[in-house]
Amino acid sequence: MANHVAAEATPPAACLNQLKKQVLDAGLCVACGACVGLCPHIIFYDGRVAAPDDCGLSQGRCLDLCPQAPEPAQESKRRALHAQAGQTPAPPLGPHAGIWQARAASPDLAGRAQYGGVASALLALALEEGLIGEAVVTRGGQRGAPQGALVRDRAGVLAAAGSIYAAGGSLLALNQALAQETGPKLGLVGLPCQVLAAAAMKAHPSYPAAARRLGLVIGLFCTWNLPARGLRALLAAEGLQGPVKKYDIPPPPAQVFLVETEKETREIPLAKVREHTLAGCALCPDLTAELADVSIGAAEGRPGWNTLIARSAQGESLVKSALERGLLILETPPAESLDHLRAAAAAKRARAAQAWKER
Ligand SMILES: Cc1cc2nc3c(=O)[nH]c(=O)nc-3n(C[C@H](O)[C@H](O)[C@H](O)COP(=O)(O)OP(=O)(O)OC[C@H]3O[C@@H](n4cnc5c(N)ncnc54)[C@H](O)[C@@H]3O)c2cc1C
Ligand code: SF4
Ligand code: SF4
Repeated sequence: MANHVAAEATPPAACLNQLKKQVLDAGLCVACGACVGLCPHIIFYDGRVAAPDDCGLSQGRCLDLCPQAPEPAQESKRRALHAQAGQTPAPPLGPHAGIWQARAASPDLAGRAQYGGVASALLALALEEGLIGEAVVTRGGQRGAPQGALVRDRAGVLAAAGSIYAAGGSLLALNQALAQETGPKLGLVGLPCQVLAAAAMKAHPSYPAAARRLGLVIGLFCTWNLPARGLRALLAAEGLQGPVKKYDIPPPPAQVFLVETEKETREIPLAKVREHTLAGCALCPDLTAELADVSIGAAEGRPGWNTLIARSAQGESLVKSALERGLLILETPPAESLDHLRAAAAAKRARAAQAWKER
């Protein structure tokens, strides 16, 4: 099989003009950051991607790496990337070696982590064990907007714990790290679109540093996201001021977005929040980051716990090591929760397929 997965079905003129036409101008960009930091022609500013001029290249990397590019079709791109990783797609949850409800045992994650702290616990362990030497995470930057950051130790991992429901272009930090051809193995914690882009980076023949250095990918479940400006506008419209301590979307039937500041905890109806979501998310079929080594989301009806999916052999062995060292508590999920997760994943896939058809 040719190494260049994306190019198999992409017309030869894969270049910035196409990215502009097919993704940016079409309103599909979800600010994952995969195309940013590769060249001087693409700019990321205040949560948005812009390409003010053309680079003149007929074979750039940007379109190949973009998870929102319409060609090749989502399913065939994913199938090819799974094959590249030696896996079969296995919808609706993707390839998996094990699925659990889980939480981190360490007390330093309580109160900092979004739910059970499994993402932070596994990332910190991977750094401690030397599986990776650095990792790209997302944390609050200027005015609380999310941005990518490179962390090297547990303190850095803890500083990024918690979820910010906005797109921060964090893969810019990954591209910056990969600009060094050699260096330690890199980890990534990312949303499904970012995990897809990272898989495309690893498979791209013009990105040998990614194939060589990208070592561990921890995926987060995701249904939709907000643009950074949209989140800011929402908070302003609600009269919420000051640093946000925590965001959350409690499971149904709550139908609210929780924003906790120093002064108060506000419940914003989800219907209001959805007015601000990224249009491109409607075309995203992946709920559970199917191309990651491990994927992590909320555990249905169980506050303070995660759903954890180990996918690759490496992901499975990291979970095993965390269990053996007493860093994770794992339980078999109730069959009903798994059924609901499968149904939610299948529904997202179907909604996206319909949205692509309607374009
Ligand atoms: C935009 C968004 C939408 C989500 N939607 C769902 C959903 O529909 N269903 C569900 O079950 N779970 C969803 N999640 C995942 C959930 O919020 C938790 O991140 C996940 O359950 C891991 O919990 P944890 O306690 O292990 O995380 P922690 O240990 O607290 O670690 C959280 C990690 O999230 C990363 N992170 C924070 N904000 C962002 C961001 N904007 N982009 C990328 N990475 C980020 C940080 O780098 C950190 O490493 C979503 C997360 C985000 C950011
Ligand atoms: S979705 Fe990601 S790769 Fe595609 S244009 Fe937006 S930032 Fe770039
Ligand atoms: S819904 Fe999909 S495209 Fe939108 S932020 Fe989540 S993973 Fe990315």
